[in-house]
Amino acid sequence: MPNYKTHDGITIYSACALGPVCYWAINQYAPTVGEYAFTSAPLTTTLLVVGAYLFSGLLLSNDLDTYSRPYRRWGPLRILWYPYQRLVAHRSVLSHGVLIGPLLRVFYLYVMVEVLLFAVYHGAVLTGYSTQMAQTGFHMVANVFPYLVAHPQVSVPLLVGLVLGGITHSIVDWF
Ligand SMILES: [Zn+2]
Repeated sequence: MPNYKTHDGITIYSACALGPVCYWAINQYAPTVGEYAFTSAPLTTTLLVVGAYLFSGLLLSNDLDTYSRPYRRWGPLRILWYPYQRLVAHRSVLSHGVLIGPLLRVFYLYVMVEVLLFAVYHGAVLTGYSTQMAQTGFHMVANVFPYLVAHPQVSVPLLVGLVLGGITHSIVDWF
């Protein structure tokens, strides 16, 4: 089973290759979503894909389903991933599946951030502190999904990068 150094190394080296390939593919195949042509901002699109790919491989890793280096990278926030680690079997289709893996983790993270904000809000109410920070957090989180739906030029490259990062991890696991 490849260790985290193998996964990290392959993620970083493949990201270096992904950048030029992505930039070339955008110009070559001129993908569009609705009215939006990705050729209008190939560099931004490439940076979003590569950034999401690195995030997917190094932090939102398939191996969050076990006590792994990516899990520890979250620092104190690793507590958010503890239920995931306990509930999802290591290397199951839920964590290592091509589409379901990254999408489930993004959805899970979204829910856990809401739970964390909920806890901070009620903690603040109980102790008499200001709830302003939690309310700002709720407001920001509530705007994420509508923003992504309204901006496919951002959400599509992010999705591509996240999914590719998960696929790379699963391919490495097969060897
Ligand atoms: Zn794995």
